Parts: sequence; C-alpha cells; structure tokens
Amino acid sequence: MAIVLATLLLTGCQTTPKPQSESEQPRERPWTLETFADVNVRRYELPGWEQLTPKQRVLAYYLTQAALCGRDILMDQNCQYNLSIRRILEGIYTSYTGNRQGAPWEQFYTYLKRVWFANGIHHFYAETKMAPGFPQAYFQELVENTPQEAFPQKFATKEEVLAYANPVLFDPTVAAKRVNKADGVDVVATSATNLYRNLTQKEVEKFYAAQKKAHKNDTHLAYGMNSQLVKQADGTIVERVWKVGGMYSAAIEQIVGWLEKAKTVAETPEQVVTLNSLIKFYQTGALEDFNQYCVDWMQDTAARIDFVNGFIEDYGDPLGSKCSWEGLVNYKDMEATQRMEVLSANAQWFEDNSPVDKKFKKEKVKGLTAKVIDVVQLGGDCYPMPPIGINLPNANWFRKEHGSKSVTIANLMYAYDKASEGNGFLEEFAYGPEEVARIRECGALASNVSTDLHECLGHGSGQLLKGVKDDALKNYTSTIEEARADLFSLYYIADPKMEELGILPSQEYAWAEYDTYMRNGLLTQISRLKPGEQIEEDHMRNRALIARWCYEKGKGGKVIEMASRDGKTYVKVNDYQALRGLVGQLLAEVQRVRSTGDFKAAKALVEGYGVAVDPELHKEVLARYQQLHIAPYGGFVNPLIEPVMQGDSIVDARVNYDVSLTEQMLYYSKNYSFLPCDN
Ligand code: ZN
Repeated sequence: MAIVLATLLLTGCQTTPKPQSESEQPRERPWTLETFADVNVRRYELPGWEQLTPKQRVLAYYLTQAALCGRDILMDQNCQYNLSIRRILEGIYTSYTGNRQGAPWEQFYTYLKRVWFANGIHHFYAETKMAPGFPQAYFQELVENTPQEAFPQKFATKEEVLAYANPVLFDPTVAAKRVNKADGVDVVATSATNLYRNLTQKEVEKFYAAQKKAHKNDTHLAYGMNSQLVKQADGTIVERVWKVGGMYSAAIEQIVGWLEKAKTVAETPEQVVTLNSLIKFYQTGALEDFNQYCVDWMQDTAARIDFVNGFIEDYGDPLGSKCSWEGLVNYKDMEATQRMEVLSANAQWFEDNSPVDKKFKKEKVKGLTAKVIDVVQLGGDCYPMPPIGINLPNANWFRKEHGSKSVTIANLMYAYDKASEGNGFLEEFAYGPEEVARIRECGALASNVSTDLHECLGHGSGQLLKGVKDDALKNYTSTIEEARADLFSLYYIADPKMEELGILPSQEYAWAEYDTYMRNGLLTQISRLKPGEQIEEDHMRNRALIARWCYEKGKGGKVIEMASRDGKTYVKVNDYQALRGLVGQLLAEVQRVRSTGDFKAAKALVEGYGVAVDPELHKEVLARYQQLHIAPYGGFVNPLIEPVMQGDSIVDARVNYDVSLTEQMLYYSKNYSFLPCDN
C-alpha cells in the first residue's frame, strides 16, 4: 500500500533541517519550481548521496534507468488514448510554427503539462477527464500548423490526427472517467482504464472465478494482477499478460536489461537473488514467480540501496486486482531508520494492546521490516506524485506469513515541508494562534511518526478470519484498509508508549497530529475537489470517514466542534482524550469489518461518512484557498542521475538538480518511449 500525502503539503510546519553538504544544496534554488492549474511542481534533493560508495551510486543509476523505462506502460494502462494524445500534444509543443504567445497557447501548454502530470488525460485524483481549456477550433489551428512528421506515424494526414484527437479531447462522453468506483454501476464498463476492453463487470468476475477454480482456488495467487483482459470481436475473452514476449514487451525488455546490469554491482547476494527473481517474473509473467519474487525481496534487507519495480498498486483497477506499473529507487536513511526499528521491535506490544477484538489480532506479528529512506528516483505510478510511505507487498496472506517491508520517505517529506513554509495555510485554517504554534513546534515530527505508525504497524496489524477473502469488501477494500492503518496510527501516536520508547517527547505531539488530521478530514481536503464533485479517491474517503465519524459520535460531548468565526468555519478539538477514545472505537469496528469481510458495514461506513460534500462548506473552503493562491496538489521532478564514465565503463554516478518539468518530460518522451501508440 502506498500512503499518499495527506496533509503535509497543506501545512506550513517546519522540520529540523537535515545536514546536507554544500555541493548537494545550492541554496538559491527554489523548492517550488512552478505552479499551474491545481498543482505545484517541486524538486527534491538526495541528502547523503555523497556518502554512498561509487559502486552503490552506479547501482542506483542502473535501477534508476529501470525505473524510467516503464513510463509508457503506466500511461497506456491508464487509458488507451494516452500515448497517442501525449505524442500529438508533444508534437505540437515542439514543432508548431504559429504564434507561441498569448492566452490560447498558454492554455494549450497548461493542458499538456496537466497530461504529463496526470500520466494521461484523466485527473489523477478526481479520475475524471480533464477539459483542455482551449477551444476545438484552436486545436485545429495548432494541428494544421504543425509538420506532419511531428505526429505519430500511425496518422498519415492532419485529418486523421484531428479525427482521432477531437472526440478524446472535446467530447465529454468519451472516456469520461478513468476509474469508476461508484456504488451500483458496472464499474468495469463505465471505467476508461485500459485494463479491460469491451467487457462487463460480470464477464470479468466470471473469467477470474474460472481461473481461480483452475488453480484449485489457490488463495495465494493474485489473479489478473499483470494483464489486460480483452473481449475480442468473436466474443472470446483473452488475457494479455504483461511480460517479455507479451503485452508491453518492448518496455519490459528494457527494464530487464537494466536489472541485469544492476546485478553486476549488487551489494549483497540476497540482492542478486531478488533481481534474478524479478527478471524471471518479467520473463514468465507467472503469478507463482511473483510470489517468489516477493519472498526474495522481503529477505533482501541488508543492502543500503533498494527499489520497487513492477506491477504493484491496484488503485487504478475499479475491481482492485490489476496493478499499475511503478518504479522507485531509494537508499536507507540511517539515522531516521532507528526510530522505525524501535517501533518494529515493539510490534507485538502494539498488536496485543490495541482496542481490537482478540480474534482479529495476529498472535504473532511477523517480519516487520521498517526503515526510513531517501528516494533517488521516481517512475511510473510514483511519478510525479509519489507516496510518502510504502508498505509492500500488498497481499494479506503474504503479510501474515512473511511480513512486509515498510518505509517512510524522508527526503520527499522534507521537500514538501520546505516548499510549503510560509504559504499562509495554517494562519487561515487553524483555529487559533495556539494551534498554529503547536503545529509549528510539533507538527513535522508528529507527521513523520504518524506515517511510521501507519506503514510500519498499521497495515501489518490484524488478521482476516479464516475463509474471508482479501477483496471481500470489493470497491471499499482500499478505503477500509487505509482507514484501518490511519486509525491504528492515530490511536497509538497518543499512547504513553510513545514517550516510554523515546519516539515522541510528549502527548502534545499527538494533539498536533489530531488537529491536523481532523482539520484536513472535516474541512480542508475538499479543496481538492471541483464544485459539484464528491469524494472519490480512497485515501481522501478514508480521512473523511474517520474525521466525520468521530465528529458525529462525539457531538453530544462536544469532542470536536465546527466553530464559526467571521463567517469562516474552523475545526476545534475540545477533548483530545475523548477523541482518542473514539478513534479506538472506530479502529475496533473497522478491523472487525475488514476481518470478517462485512461488505454491508463497509459500504455503510464509506458511503455514509466518506463520500458526500457539503456544497456550502465546499464553496467557502475553495474561496479561502483561492485567496491564498495555494495549489492543492504537489508533485516532483526527479533529479537527473548521470553516469560518470571512465573509458567505456560506468564508474560512478552524479546528481544534477538542474531540471524543469517540461525539459524532463520531453527528455523522458525522447529517451524512454519504447511502446507504440496502441498496444
Ligand atoms: Zn496505507
């Protein structure tokens, strides 16, 4: 599971600056590079890169290449039109011979940047198709004044370009929504993702039920995780597996090539084993090989450099099985890792003392590997909007038997904090100066610890009852799973154990986190939605669910107040201990729902608390945001990792921070486009 950025990008809390060498941190460079539409583009740095050995840096370089080679896979998975549209837009951007000044060109350029940023034509959070923001007639002018050779070869004429692109860009009924998880509709037929073609939800479920049966209902296999399912013209259903020799082969072969090179400079024998088994999985596409790879990756803990590469998260599939391609390269942050190790070493204590019913607890919490990392490179679904924490592998049975690797990403959180200092957010939305002061003082460490708890203990806690399937909660699975991890974290951040273990100096840190969480869940996170929209994204739903449930249940005792002052709404927590009690109650219930696969209760929780938006409050929040000029979303450009050559061989690698979003995207499109427009 990926924990995506919750509130950090919206707060102005300060972190203790990390020691960074002069060469790594040219101080005049801004942390926020540009802002357009609803996003801030930032950069991040690699503290400690210079302390790695040259061999480790070369390894990181090879893995970086492997992380970039899957970019087009992700884009194509997101929607079948994405690669063609991106290439048409890039063709115009690089070769249009007309006027590049003024409003319509700026609108076109903004749209291209939004497509880059979203890895396709749909908004990354709302999942709805983004409106281009310029008229169709202008698009025609752009195409007509761009040389034919700038467009993908499959188009022989300008007319063909327009005939293809016009409906995709301008007809709101074409590919309207990427992932539709709405209740009561055919989520497959109404989603524009490219994971299924010409299929209904029933047909997909039937297909995989049969596949499961053919495998004697082996519950350890992630059926359908690495394939596209297509109904052909003759009515037969074909699974196109993503592997060497299968769908996306051209890109996967490149990835495998870089993984082979990485093997030559691997740090440990375990890392070689891991790389070998990943390569094997890419070659066979066999689900058993994926499981073996997960086992090997779990045991590969001694190396300083680590990576995620492959088909990982299932948020992009309305049915929650098929996995988006992602890549991420990182190295261990030695100091911060110590904190995680303390939590991890006490995992059993946390499990035993949680307010959850005993039968839903793990008797023995296994193999929790926790560390803090700094990211070297983001690719696929992690780029340009990365998670700030990761807990993998995802399968519940795997976690139970083998545990999981859990990480918090320090350098990205640091960059978020730096970029949001002094943007006025806290002063506008916090209830009063005391709350602001406490968040300034405690907020950053509290956020870090809360992420540690979510990833390191939350996801790994609890167990499903015998016979309950991983996906028993269907389209509510991710939201409930994230809620479970968040609640675990909120419950324990306020536990005296935090002081006892030396993790937090006092409970004040927990209360800072409570303020931030409730303010976000009850008030500010809806700034990310457009008027009329409901909450769709799993993490946002989970935060709304928790905050609103606690608000409702605590109403009698005024635990949380929605205070009004000068026509503005504020969230005020009156009784922190009582709030912790409510968090514990909800944790027990959410764990019960997950453990027993109580679909009805999951639906009632999510639909009842996590979806609706109060239009009046929404209007107010949007207006307050607008006046602050803060974009609600943030993402990153990667530093460029360049090889240092000696003759023909790569002997070291260096970091170049001097990149812009446009340069980077065009560079990637030029150097990492391995797939045709239609796959
Ligand atoms: Zn999570």
